[in-house]
Amino acid sequence: MKQRIVMKFGGTSVGSANAIRKVVAIIQNNNSLDYEIAIVVSAAVGITDLLNLCISQALGVENGNYSITLSIIKGRLQEIAEKLLRLKPDKENFFDILNKFLEEALDDCKKVKGNAENLPEIKDRILSIGERAQIYLVSSALNQSGLESVPLQASDFIITNNSFLEATPLQPITNEKIKERLEPFLLKGIIPVISGFIGSTSDGKLTTLGRGGSDFSAAIIAAGLDANEVWIWTDVDGMMTTDPSLITNTRLVTEISYKEVYDLAFFGARVLHPKTIQPLEGKKIPIQIKNTFKEKNQGTHIHLSVKNSKRNLKAVTGIKRVSILSLRKRRNEDMGTVVSLVETALANSNIHLLGVFQDINKDTTFLAISQIVSDVDLSEFEKKLGEHLPGRNFPRLQHRPSQTLVTAVGHLIQKNPLLSAKLKITLENAGVVIQADAYRNTENSLSFLISEQDHLKAIQQLHNEVLSHA
Ligand code: ASP
Ligand code: MG
Repeated sequence: MKQRIVMKFGGTSVGSANAIRKVVAIIQNNNSLDYEIAIVVSAAVGITDLLNLCISQALGVENGNYSITLSIIKGRLQEIAEKLLRLKPDKENFFDILNKFLEEALDDCKKVKGNAENLPEIKDRILSIGERAQIYLVSSALNQSGLESVPLQASDFIITNNSFLEATPLQPITNEKIKERLEPFLLKGIIPVISGFIGSTSDGKLTTLGRGGSDFSAAIIAAGLDANEVWIWTDVDGMMTTDPSLITNTRLVTEISYKEVYDLAFFGARVLHPKTIQPLEGKKIPIQIKNTFKEKNQGTHIHLSVKNSKRNLKAVTGIKRVSILSLRKRRNEDMGTVVSLVETALANSNIHLLGVFQDINKDTTFLAISQIVSDVDLSEFEKKLGEHLPGRNFPRLQHRPSQTLVTAVGHLIQKNPLLSAKLKITLENAGVVIQADAYRNTENSLSFLISEQDHLKAIQQLHNEVLSHA
């Protein structure tokens, strides 16, 4: 039986002609008769941010001119094509496609500027251009090196709901379409190069799966194809015991379970999008995280359960900027009900809730939110909340810059009170004041709400504990 592998290459891995040559070499090294390979690509590094900037410029919230930003994008992608593609027809074909996409983006930016009604829909069309263009570069590079390949837009087979900017794929239609569209190529040994990050509604409107969503695309495609593995190629070795830009003595996590990695990603580790886990877990499809630029390195292996459960502390992560909504308990009020109504209202406003915390006296509940919520989102949220809870006054949702969230991740931490107590004591002994703590998601993490000035200290302390368990 052939091994069916979905390989996803991130923005840095496809961000220059040299990087794409590296991608081609990786595929050549793995393209044996035993493998069927499908490739999912991100936009070249920085392109989606530039597209986002165009939108902000069109809206007038950012200085500068979107048509200049679009020409910067054009320049960057053309430069890659000039250096990468040897054949004139390939190059010309790419330039034609790129021009078409950029003209479309220019029109859409004008609509954004004119305050069009269907703003999220237009934003998605603009944001998706990086991925939509990238497949032609990577696929042509494979073809010119003698590997047979075809560029495919994921919007033809990942069918989503119409939650633009953060769409969710619909099943079983997506799985059916993936099989129908991709399998014939795989069976013939042709390598599909597929745009990450995008999908479309059933009536053909382009959607995106949320920032960083190309990992999720790879997972959706792997599940649809019943692949044997997903390989995420990126610019770091894999999941580390903590963010190496904060601490020097970090180590690679060589093996970790789906649930642990979910919590790690959810609480701030940027290597993998948390949604990646869900389509794979049910089908037990393992993930390998690999470094495009150090191909031989071991990487991180993510799978169902990790044999050595003694290593029950895997990593520490932190989110420095959180918004806190505090809810004070009223007499006779069931806080559980109030909190769940607030959670629903947050979800309906597309605001990501990171954790629900109680202060020591249990009379105030803090809801930690990952982004700094804008005034527009805030009023939208308060309106929705008001519909559910008439007569209840809520303190306004605030960004408290002095608050931060650090999370220790490990196998069933919640069921290990000794370990949890040890982590708390470690922090307290180092002088970190814990405002509140909470388990969330999968029982594999313990998060602490602390003041921002203690962020690094807390991570250092918890990381020492991780190393002592390794
Ligand atoms: N290009 C998209 C982003 O920057 C998706 C991704 O790279 O995963 O968010
Ligand atoms: Mg990413």
